[in-house]
Amino acid sequence: MDSAGDRRGDLRIAAGGRIAESGPHLPARPGEEVVDASGLLVVPGGVDAHTHMQLPVGSVRSSDDFASGTAAAAVGGTTTVVDYVTAYRGQEPLAALATWQRWAEPAAVDVGLHMTLTEAVPEAVVAACVEKGVTSFKLYMAYPDALQVDDGVILQMMQATGRHGGLVTIHAENGSAIEVLRRQALAEGRTGVVEHSRTRPAVLEGEAVGRAGALAEVAGVAVYVVHVSSAPALAAVRLARARGVDMMAETCPQYLHLSVDSLAGADGADYVCTPPLRDAWHQEELWEGLARGTIHTVATDHCPFTTADRRAGTGGRAGGWSDFTEIPGGLPGVETRMALVWDGVRRGRISVADWVRLCSEAPARTFGLWPEKGSLAAGADADVVLWDPDACQRLDAAALHMRTDHSPYAGRALAGWPRLVLSRGRPVARDGAFVGEAGWGRYVARHPRPGARG
Ligand SMILES: [Zn+2]
Repeated sequence: MDSAGDRRGDLRIAAGGRIAESGPHLPARPGEEVVDASGLLVVPGGVDAHTHMQLPVGSVRSSDDFASGTAAAAVGGTTTVVDYVTAYRGQEPLAALATWQRWAEPAAVDVGLHMTLTEAVPEAVVAACVEKGVTSFKLYMAYPDALQVDDGVILQMMQATGRHGGLVTIHAENGSAIEVLRRQALAEGRTGVVEHSRTRPAVLEGEAVGRAGALAEVAGVAVYVVHVSSAPALAAVRLARARGVDMMAETCPQYLHLSVDSLAGADGADYVCTPPLRDAWHQEELWEGLARGTIHTVATDHCPFTTADRRAGTGGRAGGWSDFTEIPGGLPGVETRMALVWDGVRRGRISVADWVRLCSEAPARTFGLWPEKGSLAAGADADVVLWDPDACQRLDAAALHMRTDHSPYAGRALAGWPRLVLSRGRPVARDGAFVGEAGWGRYVARHPRPGARG
């Protein structure tokens, strides 16, 4: 099925790894292998538009590389990831892109890349990125030390990317205000894990989303807000959309399933991510946002760490982290996304069609991967998932393939997991096991958005 609705039918895959045709009762031709999908849903492979494989974070690095992370993605039904390149201040974006492209060579499924800019760049650099298939540009409103840019840079880069068919994605938190709260916490001796969340209140996420909407309105461009985590942020998205701003919002499974209570436990450091986990009631609002279309996509912000690296912290200290600002932030998720969103289908919060749209079609369309990805139409890449709605999957780290020794969903089991996953026609996962190979994945040059100057 696709997001248009579900129907019975067959799919024919051509030797080149594309979908040849679909329809009811396609007759098998001599030499063709027939896969019986009765009782299963046949859906386009998942597109995870927000990952951080092998990302350096201070003295540690996210623990999945492109080979392990994309193998795990495949097992969970995701056949394309779009990872974030970072061009740090003073670094050439195209040089950073070349580094990430090299890192991505061992990927097991297809990979696209976004560009993170940490300062204004000449418009020719934007044009060169788009030329290389990097059509989205992330800007941070937080992390003044290394990543944050001011509103002027955001406006300028929105105008420049808009002229070249690019899309700005925004990390929306008021970084300058958060920095003050963090310094105050440390000065007052409040150094524990839970301060990570107390110093990043939801209202400062909402404020930043509102500001991003205003800047996009002035620039006359679309804008995409990554990892919306809270009701104030969602309200700001709604407000911007209501006055005609083309604002798209992404959320992540951790904000739909986990709450700030996890930070209070003995293993609280394992739940540090940014934006932080919120009070549980925000989850209801986010599910509502998914059902109503206020939230456009579900991605993961996949950025796992080993327990050892979490304890060590980003500061390179012998005794491990000394306060909450040194805990590496990010959660594993690339493997469990499809199932954690499917859980919303089982609980009646969203429809099956919503699930396909949120996890595959919308991210493919938004990020210039359509119609090759996120579609089962003739001509699309044969990235196909045979989804068993009743297959039971445990979410403990040992039952999963992401390269980390802890799971934020440990002890939980979900119904719904892929039976078979194809990447361009080739099986890459079967019954919860990875059957693909490192290096099968290709770098995907993404299309510019329509209306670009060219
Ligand atoms: Zn991220």
